[in-house]
Formats: sequence, C-alpha cells, structure tokens
Amino acid sequence: MRELTHYIDGQHVTGTSGRFADVFNPATGEVQARVPLASAEEVAQAVEGAARAQQHWAGVNPQRRARVLMEFVRLLNRDMDKLAEALSREHGKTLPDARGDVQRGLEVIEFCIGAPHLLKGEYSGNASRGIDIYSMRQPLGVVAGITPFNFPAMIPMWKMGPAIACGNAIVIKPSERDPTVPLMLAELMSEAGLPDGVLQVVNGDKGAVDALLDSPVIQAVGFVGSTPIAEYIYARGCANGKRVQCFGGAKNHMIIMPDADMDQAADALVGAGYGAAGERCMAISVAVPVGDATADRLMEKLVPRVEALKIGPYTGGDDVDFGPVVTAAARDNIARLVQSGIDQGAELVVDGRDFHLQGYENGFFVGAHLFDHATTEMDIYRKEIFGPVLTTLRAPSYEDALAMASSHEYGNGVAIFTRDGDTARDFTERVNVGMVGINFPIPVPLSYHSFGGWKKSAFGDLNQYGPDSFKFYTRTKVVTSRWPSGIREGGDFSIPVME
Ligand code: NAD
Repeated sequence: MRELTHYIDGQHVTGTSGRFADVFNPATGEVQARVPLASAEEVAQAVEGAARAQQHWAGVNPQRRARVLMEFVRLLNRDMDKLAEALSREHGKTLPDARGDVQRGLEVIEFCIGAPHLLKGEYSGNASRGIDIYSMRQPLGVVAGITPFNFPAMIPMWKMGPAIACGNAIVIKPSERDPTVPLMLAELMSEAGLPDGVLQVVNGDKGAVDALLDSPVIQAVGFVGSTPIAEYIYARGCANGKRVQCFGGAKNHMIIMPDADMDQAADALVGAGYGAAGERCMAISVAVPVGDATADRLMEKLVPRVEALKIGPYTGGDDVDFGPVVTAAARDNIARLVQSGIDQGAELVVDGRDFHLQGYENGFFVGAHLFDHATTEMDIYRKEIFGPVLTTLRAPSYEDALAMASSHEYGNGVAIFTRDGDTARDFTERVNVGMVGINFPIPVPLSYHSFGGWKKSAFGDLNQYGPDSFKFYTRTKVVTSRWPSGIREGGDFSIPVME
C-alpha cells in the first residue's frame, strides 16, 4: 500500500501519529493509498518550521518573491498533464476538468506575481505642516489554509499564492480524500526556489485542524469547505483572536426568463449542473424557469440532453462528461436526498438511480437525475446535494424567481438567462447573492477580481484571491513622520490636529 507523507521544511516526512485515512480511486472503489493524519505535535513542528522560515521570507523583497512564483507557473505548465492525472485518479473528475482545476489555481499565482505593485502603500506628503503620512502592508506571519476535496489544485493555490507573495509562511491542511496534488504543488514550489518551510503541507483531519486553530503562532486561517465546518472554524478561529475567512456550501440558482435562448440555457444547465458530477461549489443545482410555458420549453430541450450524458472513469476517453463522486458516503448521501425528493412529491423526470457501469461496479458512480415541480420546502431544494442532481422549481413570475434566489440561506452564485438588458440589470442590482452570471452559468470571477459568496456561503469580510487577498494576508502599518527641522519648542498636551 502506497503511504503518503506530510511535506515539512522542504522534505517529505512520514507520519508518526499512527493514524491514517484511506485514499480511494473513486472510479474503481479501490483504496490506492493511505494518508497520515497528523497529531497536534506534528502540526506544532510544521508551524515552528514555518515560523523560522517566515522571518527570512518576510525580508525577501516582493519582486524576488514574485520571481519564485513565476518559476512555479512555468513548472505547473511543464507538469500539467502529470498533475491532472494524479488529480483525476483521486478525485474522479475528467482529465480536461482536472486541467481546468490546475489552470484556475495557476491564474491566481499569475495574479500574485504582481505583488510588488499590489503591496505598495499610500503616501500623503505634507499632510500637516512638515508632516508626511504613509502606510505599508506587512505580512501577518504564519497562516493556515484548510481546503476541500473538490478542487485539490485550485483552492490550495488560492491560499498559498497570495499568502506567500505577501511574505507569510503558510501551512496547508488539504482534504484527506485527495491529498496527492497539494503535496506535488509543494514539491514544485521547492523546485521553483521557495525556501524550505515557507510552504508546509500537513495532512490530517479534525485533530490537525483544531491544532492549527488553537496554535498561538497561526495568525490567520483561510478555510474552504462545507458550511457547518466553515461556521465551526470561523467561531473557534475568531475566539482565538485570529483573522479568519471561511467559504462554505452553496445552492446556486439559474433563472430562465421566457425570452432566453432556450438552447443556450439548456446547454448551460447540463454543463453547470452535471460537470464534475455536480461537486462544485459553483455548480447550478436549481433551475428556475419563469412561467409554465417557459418551463415546458426548457424541459423539452433539457431532458434529452440529460439523458444523453456520458458517465465514466477519467480514463474513459474524451467524450466522458463526468466521473464518479468522491466516496461511497457521498454516493449514499445523494441517493438518500433523491429518495427524499420523490417522497416529498417532486417529479423525477430523469431517473439515474439504476445507473451501472460495466467493469466499474465498485466505483462511486451516480447517474444523472433531473427533478421538476419541486417546492421550496423540500430537502432537495433546501440542502446542498453536491451530486449530479438538478432540481427545477417553476416560478410564476420574475419577482418570485428573484425572491427565491435571494431568500435561500446560501448565496454563493446565481445566474439569469434573458435577452432583456433591463431585467438582467434589475436582477444584478437586487439579488441577494455574491456572484452573478448573466447568460453565464458558473460565474467564477477571474483571478484579478475576487471570489466570495454571501449569507451562509461565506463568513468573514474579504473575498478570496484578487486584491482582497492581499488585504487579508497583510496588515496595514501607518506612519506619521516629521523631521527635526519641523519640531517646535514646548510640549503639546492636546490631541494633534491638522495645522
Ligand atoms: P468539508 O467541510 O467536509 O472539508 C473541508 C476541510 O475541512 C477538509 O480539509 C477537512 O479535512 C476539514 N474538516 C472536515 N471536518 C472537519 C471537522 N469536523 N473539524 C475540522 N475540520 C474538518 O468539505 P468537503 O466535502 O471537502 O468539500 C465540499 C464542500 O466545500 C461543499 O459544501 C462545497 O460547496 C464547499 N466548497 C465551497 C467553496 C467556496 O469557495 N465557497 C469552494 C469549494 C467547495
């Protein structure tokens, strides 16, 4: 059995806790490796190493730090296929989708190469007589990134890129379900010239996370994962005085107006609803056609597309649309929620329950499901299913559709399909959701904007990547300066005011 490691101080380090988790190949159901689950002592060692390395790294000028990231980008491109293969083998997503996972992380690293510019402070010359005021952005120290299984390349890079560019050291605690790619990223960072200890990868579960949350050395925590864990980490991290941002689950709606291009809308729904087996926080999981006539026209286009989806292993060729889900537990949870939809009265118009793939009977495959006539009280609407299940709720009017998306407890992404600019504009102004697509189903902003949901999809006040991340991973120091020639005689006992 292949045994994975931690990556500490530039070395692969064998786990010593004696605790392990199985890493599956979701396509075959086989255990392909085991990953060590770090003890609090192992976490403490990684954090200490990071603290030592950070002292030096903070003093390396931003342009030199950026050059390490430039080289890292070159190495990511060099190893793209290798990374994608390792990613698909543990996650199950198709190879083109795995390359996209690496690519969307790589683009954030490219943005971070702008660190010298992004870290510039502000300056007010002659703010008062003989007085200048300026600000600088300084690193926080050692920070932690706790990441989910569904983007094992992209999200660790969303954390490590800005943190490292800003002069911090970071300890990444990847998902224990697919930890190989984060370890490969750490190796590539070393090869790119990152000093040992600036990026540590500690594998583990709740025990390792709690050790990071309670460590007095860790200054900030960036988390991405499910909402209950996001809430827990936010509360415990904040109670320990850390800067914390936690990104959680989602239930992304797509509103289809009567004037939408129905072919475009149906194509968008199959891609965004079923791509990566629905295991994306920006997947569209709810379709909201406005009016029964629109719903009927949409279903006419959608049903044959969903029935034609090709499900298979990542080795199954270019025409595979999506692969298995990540674990047997995920598969069983999806089956339970599908059953609840039927029991609670939704109409299952495409039934994927009997899906089997010859030769892969033990894999964690789930057929494509499509519900129609669901209502807002049903579990399939309220809960995140995180599988290839699209739920349709027919809205009588535009206002009803808008209210539905706005009042759902999650508020990550939302899309509207329409040809009418007024409707699209009104929607973007009023909808209570963080990221909006207009005739665009998965509106994950590019790296120079930023990513963050609202309501129960995010906790904390800054978004991930983009300029916000440079704020999150630095603190501002403001200097008020006067030179001796400006000093006048005598003490001043009242608060200084501008002269
Ligand atoms: P998860 O919450 O199960 O795990 C995320 C991380 O938290 C992992 O590293 C895991 O080891 C750790 N963890 C799990 N249980 C813990 C506990 N009890 N205490 C402390 N740490 C714990 O999430 P997942 O299943 O890996 O990922 C899927 C979820 O992530 C979905 O809900 C999805 O919507 C969400 N997600 C959100 C975004 C976003 O940016 N909003 C992006 C991707 C995924």
